[in-house]
Amino acid sequence: MLNIKEESFKIKEDIIKVRREIHANPELGFEEWETARLVADYLRSLGLEVEEGIAKTGVVGFLEGKNRDKVIAIRADMDALPIKEQNECEYKSQTEGKMHACGHDSHTAMVLGVAKLLTKFKDQLEGSVKFIFQPNEEQTEMPGGADTMIEEGVLEDPKVEAILGIHVNPQLEVGTVGIKEGPIMAATDKFKITIKGEGGHGAAPHETIDAIIIAADIVQNLQSIVSRRISPVEPTVLTIGKLCGGESYNVIADEVEIEGTVRTVNPEVRDKVPLLMEQTIDGVTDIFGGDYTFDYQFGHSVLENDKKLTALITQVSKEIIGEDNTVILKNPLMAGEDFASYAKEIPGFFLHLGVSNPDRKVYPWHHPKFNLDEEALPIGMAILAESAMEYLKK
Ligand SMILES: [Zn+2]
Ligand SMILES: [Zn+2]
Repeated sequence: MLNIKEESFKIKEDIIKVRREIHANPELGFEEWETARLVADYLRSLGLEVEEGIAKTGVVGFLEGKNRDKVIAIRADMDALPIKEQNECEYKSQTEGKMHACGHDSHTAMVLGVAKLLTKFKDQLEGSVKFIFQPNEEQTEMPGGADTMIEEGVLEDPKVEAILGIHVNPQLEVGTVGIKEGPIMAATDKFKITIKGEGGHGAAPHETIDAIIIAADIVQNLQSIVSRRISPVEPTVLTIGKLCGGESYNVIADEVEIEGTVRTVNPEVRDKVPLLMEQTIDGVTDIFGGDYTFDYQFGHSVLENDKKLTALITQVSKEIIGEDNTVILKNPLMAGEDFASYAKEIPGFFLHLGVSNPDRKVYPWHHPKFNLDEEALPIGMAILAESAMEYLKK
């Protein structure tokens, strides 16, 4: 009888080749035309039903098993980032200023690998598998890839019961995976505050409303929302990443723009933060007689791993890589992930795959030297494939 882990290691080289090809040819969100073509060709070569052009560049492959109406989905993201790669390797990005620095090249390659594996195991598939390749996970504006794919019906016809996703994680060693029930990735929101004062001569501050002084107080006071007004046991991040104002050293600025992001795990806290922020902004601006606009945009929801799926995948992982290598994560990551949109609709599970190697310096996600140990790929494929097969048996 075929063994999924063995079969997965047999196609390792093939999948590494695919990953390197995608890595060398990175494309940004909603522009993944060549990647989508590679994906569609690969799926067709396996004999799957293929649909292209969903959410612009999205691709779906359908592998029909014994039951067409019992369906689990496996999702990969295909987009790269606007980063200039600093790695020196033969498969280095060939497009200046674009790079697969989040590992989506490997997600796409692995899910193609899972499609190949499950095609071999088709006779044992009690249901069917939908392979979802989405664009634009790294969106800067909502809606991004996942929401658009859902809107265009990827979870319907035939209806998908549950969904699995994967992300490489450079904080975990190759050979291991990270698993957590419940919240695994944070809700990610963004905001823009514009402070409006009245400019004037740098030597006559009393005749002006100094937008820079207001902004400085707002930056300080916003930090105390997390430290003083939200419970210390509720993970919350409030980061200001951009602050712009002023034209000249001797002129008092009339306007300052402040932009940042808020990360939360508890939906109640998520709803509360913008209200507290506005109180602070309003209060501080009022003291100085200035004015403001406050734009707060909700982004990804918190990503929650379904309890039953978590139990199933934990079991499968222990069988494939052993109990010691199945790392139970204590805390969610405060980064966001648009897989959350699928997991809000149907039970979902998001696996963290260890890709760091103790013999080599590891750079974090989105770093120009981000890279991964490709030995992890067959492990990710085996766990996803086996989990899908086991799920369909139930
Ligand atoms: Zn990313
Ligand atoms: Zn990512």
